[in-house]
Amino acid sequence: MRKVYLDHNATTPVHPEVVKAMLPYFSERFGNPSSVHSFGQEAKHAMDEARGAVATAIGAKRDEIVFTSGGTEADNIAVTGVTSALSNKGRHIITSTIEHHAVLSTCQHLASMGFELTELPCDGHGIVDPQSVREAVRKDTVLITIMHANNETGVIQPIEEIGKIALEHGIVFHTDAVQSLGKLPLDVNALGVNLLSVSSHKLYGPKGVGALFVRRGTPLAPSTFGGHHERKRRAGTENVSGIVGFARAVELATLDMEARQGRVLQLRRKLEEGVLSTIPNVRLNGHPTKRLPSTASLCFEFIEGESLVLSLDMEGVAVSSGSACTSGSSEPSHVLLAMGVPPAIAQGSVRFSLGTENTESGVDYVLDVLPKIVERLRVMSPLFRQSGTCVGEGTAG
Ligand code: PLP
Repeated sequence: MRKVYLDHNATTPVHPEVVKAMLPYFSERFGNPSSVHSFGQEAKHAMDEARGAVATAIGAKRDEIVFTSGGTEADNIAVTGVTSALSNKGRHIITSTIEHHAVLSTCQHLASMGFELTELPCDGHGIVDPQSVREAVRKDTVLITIMHANNETGVIQPIEEIGKIALEHGIVFHTDAVQSLGKLPLDVNALGVNLLSVSSHKLYGPKGVGALFVRRGTPLAPSTFGGHHERKRRAGTENVSGIVGFARAVELATLDMEARQGRVLQLRRKLEEGVLSTIPNVRLNGHPTKRLPSTASLCFEFIEGESLVLSLDMEGVAVSSGSACTSGSSEPSHVLLAMGVPPAIAQGSVRFSLGTENTESGVDYVLDVLPKIVERLRVMSPLFRQSGTCVGEGTAG
């Protein structure tokens, strides 16, 4: 059976060159970077080089990169670290309703511990208005955390504008750029952020490794305790092979990024146009242009996104409903609900996220199998029959 993987926002295959770069660090170069002997120093040197590569990719300095176990940990360290360091100054946090749970649940946990949380809404296109950030600022606001690009819709937030507001008020600003690195140019200075989270497995690197950019001078209390690793910001022996692989993946992803992402965008447009022109009652979620090249979130009315995901899987096509981290739960996506999509329609959402190895013929294959699956599922759907939409469309017979 033909296989077409369109779930790159969930994870990506590890690039063969990344595997090659990592392999020696499992066997002959296995040292602990904290050891003073040559084995340790070899590992430390590799990690320093990797730190330089990740820093260069986002316009940061080497000592501003803290390696973590991934995007979730980077988000946790940022949110808990800043609020804990500044808890004497204030206890108010500003975030948005569309954040990944790595940020949202961390903020909500802090709210349960006595912090005050403002969750800003977004508009119908999935964009948080910088003006609403300005209006939410209080004397006791210690952190603003708004994501760079949304994992479900791909919508890109006005981070530079929010960065200016944060700077004006002297408030620490964090952004989760896990979905953006390798797809969009990222420059921590242009964005005006104090902290920025990234993750390796979203850009053809290994899982379980990521980084947090921490601008020099940013107040950040440690959230794990142990050795003095990562300038006391993240205790624990570093995942050296993972870090080496992550850095190689970052180098590969940022090389010719514009051209490669341009091809991804063309494929996404072909997919979107193909679906919207052949299947009735489908809505595209999110801003038409301010979106990651890779991501198309579509609501197929009258059917469950989860059923569509399973049916597509039987034809070899991998996509996800809602975000990968919440799939398995039948709750409609909090991101789509925040955008004002009615719950019944949000239930029918499917995320197609393309990657650099996708091809035109893969997209053609999806455009061939998808309309038939949608038609079959709708025929079985009581909602569709009740709607009367099938009458005259020849789909119910
Ligand atoms: N933030 C965003 C926007 C994500 O999409 C993800 C993963 O889906 C994460 C954070 C968590 O990253 P990780 O899987 O590396 O923990």
